[in-house]
Amino acid sequence: MIRHHPDNDILLEYSAGTLPWAVSLAVSAHLQLCPQCRQQHQQHNHLGGELLDDSDPQQVSSDALQHLMARIDSSDERPEPAGKPQEQPPKVRCSDPALRRLPRIVRKLVDDNWPLRWNRVSPALKMSRLQSGQDHYEVAFHRICRGGKTAEHDHRGQEVVLVLYGSFSDADGVYAPGDFLVREPGEVHRPIATQDRECLCLSVVEAPVAVTGLLGWLVNPFLSFKPG
Ligand SMILES: [Zn+2]
Repeated sequence: MIRHHPDNDILLEYSAGTLPWAVSLAVSAHLQLCPQCRQQHQQHNHLGGELLDDSDPQQVSSDALQHLMARIDSSDERPEPAGKPQEQPPKVRCSDPALRRLPRIVRKLVDDNWPLRWNRVSPALKMSRLQSGQDHYEVAFHRICRGGKTAEHDHRGQEVVLVLYGSFSDADGVYAPGDFLVREPGEVHRPIATQDRECLCLSVVEAPVAVTGLLGWLVNPFLSFKPG
């Protein structure tokens, strides 16, 4: 059961198309897992349509329609089908159980970044950076081994986390697949994976994380930030 959702402001910005793409990626993946937020998103879109209907018509250039059609034709994006999303067969044959049932938009990112390269951050934590073409955000998978404890850390910028497989806990609670979390700078936390299985999360980070304490002094120089 999903207990943590993007707040209304984030969903409104997502509907308006004003969220940074990297953050909207995490929101879109959450929407594929969460019927409640999908419904809210549809209501926002409906409201947006009504606002457009009520607004005064604006003059556009005579070739605007031609340009729009050319952009649609050249786009790789496929519209999301209505209703519950179907699970897509992965392009990449993968025996990794954590990567087998991903929201479609995350699956595409995996396909585009295959083979994934996992870097060991600590004995309990591995990370794989995902190229997403973003200048100011780093998109990555983090996986914590079963029962693994990560280092306590803070954030210098906002971090958005979507749990994809397994569960983890911190001082504030336990987070399960589909849960969407936003950590602001100054929120120190220490995720610990539950004992039943490893935990895989998608994270979108605005600025590098900072490990606190003596361990932080030792490892911070190695936690390089690589947006893109
Ligand atoms: Zn939700």
